[in-house]
Amino acid sequence: MNILVINCGSSSLKYQLIDMNGEEVLAIGLVERIGIEGSRIKHDTTGKERYIIEEPMKDHRKALELVLNAIVDEEHGAISSLDEIGAVGHRVVHGGEDFSGSIIIDENVMEALEKNVELAPLHNPPNIIGINACKELMPNIQMVAVFDTAFHQTIPAENYIYALPFEYYEKYKVRKYGFHGTSHKYVSQRAAEMTGKDIKDLKIVTCHLGNGSSITAVDGGESIDTSMGFTPLEGLAMGTRCGDMDPAIIPFIMEKENMSIEEVNKMLNKKSGVLGISGVSSDFRDLDEADEQGNERATLALNLFANRVKKYIAAYAAQMGGIDVLVFTAGLGENSPSMRERICKGLECLGATIDKELNNVRGKDTIISNESSKVKIMVIPTNEELMIARDTLELVSNR
Ligand code: AMP
Repeated sequence: MNILVINCGSSSLKYQLIDMNGEEVLAIGLVERIGIEGSRIKHDTTGKERYIIEEPMKDHRKALELVLNAIVDEEHGAISSLDEIGAVGHRVVHGGEDFSGSIIIDENVMEALEKNVELAPLHNPPNIIGINACKELMPNIQMVAVFDTAFHQTIPAENYIYALPFEYYEKYKVRKYGFHGTSHKYVSQRAAEMTGKDIKDLKIVTCHLGNGSSITAVDGGESIDTSMGFTPLEGLAMGTRCGDMDPAIIPFIMEKENMSIEEVNKMLNKKSGVLGISGVSSDFRDLDEADEQGNERATLALNLFANRVKKYIAAYAAQMGGIDVLVFTAGLGENSPSMRERICKGLECLGATIDKELNNVRGKDTIISNESSKVKIMVIPTNEELMIARDTLELVSNR
């Protein structure tokens, strides 16, 4: 069966058409600048030249219409008719407490998605718009929602409740939800495959390190704790997000700088993290370069980032009573030997020893720990689209 995977952002749409017999990508593409001037689609059908479409796209429906045309285009397309698409899998950021797994989309699911907009006001609305556009253009197709938060719904209350008055959880559902769940699920399953052991018998720590970063303790295949929280702001320091800090700093700075709620939110989400510390960039490649040139604040940002990751790894090892596998994934985790080395320095005390030569790898499934290391350290490129397609296939096949 061919599955179309859709990931709608506020002005973008990413898609992949995957043939699930052999899990082969037939077509992949990105729509940018939806609803603004200069809209365009970069469409790649496997084995064919890139197809660029530049025309006005006033909304996601128009963008999706052009994407579907590209997919069945005689010259540039991957299939000859939309009937060859068996189902659509949608990435949805926030499922709140309503969804602990992926689900076939019906009226009740749409209602619950609307209800959860409050929890993800920036992310869920474009996801809902994408689902509605698909419904209009392909009314008879089965659609599945795959949530970024769902994998973390197994986290026990002692790890998801904040030490705040309990009424805020009861009244407003203020709790840890966690994000990047599809990625943490994919790489933990792949890690188990690579060890040849049943995931039920493994204690895995997965580090998704990219522009946004999070880290998860996966015990026996279930997430038992993760570093992002009520929003993606908590946890590790990130490209531009602050991660963990003393919450009392917020009113202190607001008062000193005469900041509004909107301004302080922007500062914490867009101006902090390694960008805020270094003043150089949110991109770790730029930081590496600045570090090599002796920029002390870039070095500070890199060391601070690595130490925070290290702290979580050790905390999660303690929570699970050990660690068998440590996984690095996402842009930085997959591609930066120097950051992996920084993070692993000191983890020898947990039985995790990196092999410098094996670590010199980018973007492919590799075990990078040395022979004597008790903990298997791995690089695994994440594949959220494939995970979404797998969940979609499983649900529509069982119907
Ligand atoms: P993601 O959010 O997963 O797409 O990751 C994007 C981030 O990965 C970028 O901001 C870079 O900081 C980082 N990154 C990608 N490639 C490299 C590389 N070769 N070395 C260091 N960092 C990298």
